[in-house]
Formats: sequence, structure tokens, C-alpha cells
Amino acid sequence: MPVRATKRGTARTPLHGDVDVLICGASFAGLAVARELRGSGARVLVLDRYDIGERATSACGIPTVWLSALGLQRAQRQSFSELVVHTPDASVRFGLPWSFSTFDYHGLCADLFAQCDAAFEHATVRRREQDVVVTDRGGLRAPLIVDALGWRRTLGTGENVQPPEAFLSRGLEVHPGGSGPDMEIWIDRGYVRAGYGWSFPAAGELRIGVGSFAPRDHVREPTARLAADLDAEAIRYQGNWIPHKLRPPVEDGIAFVGDSAGHCLPLTAEGIRPALYFGIALGRELRAVVEGRSTKAAAHARYGGFHAAHLWHFTWMLRVQNLIPRLPPSGLAGGLRAMRARTVSDWAFEHYLEICHPRIVGEARSPTTARLAAA
Ligand SMILES: Cc1cc2nc3c(=O)[nH]c(=O)nc-3n(C[C@H](O)[C@H](O)[C@H](O)COP(=O)(O)OP(=O)(O)OC[C@H]3O[C@@H](n4cnc5c(N)ncnc54)[C@H](O)[C@@H]3O)c2cc1C
Repeated sequence: MPVRATKRGTARTPLHGDVDVLICGASFAGLAVARELRGSGARVLVLDRYDIGERATSACGIPTVWLSALGLQRAQRQSFSELVVHTPDASVRFGLPWSFSTFDYHGLCADLFAQCDAAFEHATVRRREQDVVVTDRGGLRAPLIVDALGWRRTLGTGENVQPPEAFLSRGLEVHPGGSGPDMEIWIDRGYVRAGYGWSFPAAGELRIGVGSFAPRDHVREPTARLAADLDAEAIRYQGNWIPHKLRPPVEDGIAFVGDSAGHCLPLTAEGIRPALYFGIALGRELRAVVEGRSTKAAAHARYGGFHAAHLWHFTWMLRVQNLIPRLPPSGLAGGLRAMRARTVSDWAFEHYLEICHPRIVGEARSPTTARLAAA
């Protein structure tokens, strides 16, 4: 458990000035953008209300290939070559063509930040006034501003849509001590009408939670019940809203990435690798601007095109998210059993990984060009 290191009281001295790139939010998306700007010579400042890696924002499950692509294996806690899915009618074990891993949030964010040459400051972002970002410590000006602040999309224009009206799921988990060999999922209306429960072991800790695609359905009681059913203590709660629909990637001169742009995948609520993936794409476009190879308008347009090229994946996953709660449990169990054939499950999981594939990390060309060329 990371020690609270966020500056408080008199340590929160005034913060003013201007930088070349201002990245608001120091989690997966914001740090991925900053990483791509390393060595560009730009003055990059990353802001967060908390210290880097201080507050975990997820169960921290990710395809292992993403950890190795980014050189972040040190944060890995436990790895799984199978996924176990429970329904009221059957439990199905899928062999995975690639493994999933759980990781330590603090360790991963610290190692990712170590790959950047950006400065970091604690500040709570309040709003934007033209090209000034207003924080609790003062105003900061930058020609290139990134909102990587998560689902609240604090720097968006107009009235921000708030839950439960917004296209948001809700997720809550507990982190008791414990161990287990399997990464497990429960699709069971006994826990949640539309959504799923999970247990992700992380070497000495279990991350047990419930997510609901229906934002009005509460998940605290089912989360505690799932933990009790697994003989685990419901302690160390952490939860948040999770977007399940894409939102404009650029608005009024600001770029949005990660949850603030709705980059979390519907159905699975996997948002870490999309945040890293789109963060890398945005970071490369901004790098072209600070190196004088592109203009801000062109970079934003290209990033917008990259985001739009993924729309159909997100739309399809949202359709399946909407369909699964309507299936009778017997139909769901039958469908899962049919998918158990190794050729079918390999095909499905390989396609799923393709949506935000880690090969982007090694791509030398602009990701936009690469994707458009491949299309
Ligand atoms: C319970 C739960 C479990 C999940 N488990 C997984 C999982 O196992 N795997 C997976 O892939 N996805 C998971 N997700 C989804 C995943 O957490 C998100 O999609 C992912 O964190 C998005 O990354 P991000 O960088 O865009 O935003 P975030 O990780 O939400 O980061 C936003 C950052 O902005 C900072 N911030 C916010 N507001 C302000 C402000 N006003 N001023 C300054 N700083 C601010 C925050 O402190 C934070 O550091 C889970 C979500 C939940 C709720």
C-alpha cells in the first residue's frame, strides 16, 4: 500500500507559469502521453491531485504482453494462462492464447514515470479558461493541453454529463489478503443484473469486485456478498465510474485520452491498455508538434482520425454488452461452452487483443499513418 505522499497544507505552494505540454492526470493515459514526449526537448508538466501511483484506479489486470512491451514487468504480481467464467448453469475454463497479469499500481506508475523526462506537480484541476488550466494552486498556460483526468472529463466544454445519466458503468472492489491460482469472472444475475463480478489474485492480495453496466444499480452489497461467498473479507474498498462509450477526442483545442475520451472497452471494462494505447498515439502526434514537424491542428485531426478508426470495435463491444444481460442463463452457458474449443477461443481472444495491440509501442511510424496504411 503506497504511503500518502501528496503535498498538503503549506507544501501546496502557488503554481503558475507556462509549459509546452500540460498533461492533466498522472495515471495510465497521462503517463503514456508523457512517455512519448521523452527526449523531445519540450517542457512537459504532468499534474495530478495525488502522488504518482498513490491511489489505485482499478483491479490492475492487463495482457502480460503490454507489460513486456513497455518494459514494466517489474510491477507484475501474478500471471494467468486461463480465464474461468462462472454462470449459474456452468463454469467454463478458457485457455488463453496470451496471458493476463495483475500488477502493482504504484510500482507500474512509478516505473512508467521513470521512462519520462517530464516534471510532476500535485494540483487539483478545477477548470479551463481559454489556454489556462485553473488548479487549486494557480493557473498554468500551455499551447498543448491534455485531459487524462478520467471519466469526469474536467476540461470538457459545456455541462459535463454526470452519472447516472451518462454512458457509465460502475465498479467497486475490495482488496483482502489472500491467494488463488485463477483469474475468475461471474456472469450471474444473482450478483448483478447487467454486468459481472471478478476475483483477480495478485500474489498475496485478492481483488474482488462487481461492475454494473446499468449505472443506477448499486454494487456495494453484491461486492460484499461475492467476497463473503469466496470466504474473503470485504476490506479496502475502491471503486469508480467506468465509461462505456467513446467521447470526442478533441474539443475546443484540448485533447482527451483514456477514460476522459471513453477509451475503456465496453463489455469487459478493460481500460488500462486502451489508455496506454491511445496515450501513445496522442503523445506521438504532440511530439510531432513540439519538434516542428506538424501543427497543433493537424496533430489533433490525426489523433481524431486514429480514435475514429476504432469506433466500430467499441460499437460492437457495446452491442454485446447490451445483449449478454438479455440472454437466458442456459443460453449463456451454452454459448460459453461452444467458445471453449481452443480454435474458437484463440480466435476470439486474439481478435480482442488486436483492438489495442501492444505492437503500437514498437511502431516507429506515426500510429495514424500505420493504421490508415493497414486499412
Ligand atoms: C473497480 C474497477 C476495477 C477496474 N479494473 C480494471 C482492470 O483490472 N483492468 C483494466 O484494464 N481496467 C480496469 N478498470 C478500468 C480502468 O481503471 C480505467 O479504464 C483506467 O484507469 C483509465 O485510465 P486513465 O488514465 O484514463 O484514468 P484514471 O486511471 O482514472 O486516472 C485519472 C487520473 O487523474 C487524476 N485526477 C482526476 N481528477 C483530477 C483533478 N480534478 N485534478 C487532478 N487530478 C485528477 C486521478 O487522481 C488519476 O490519477 C477498472 C475500473 C474500476 C472502477
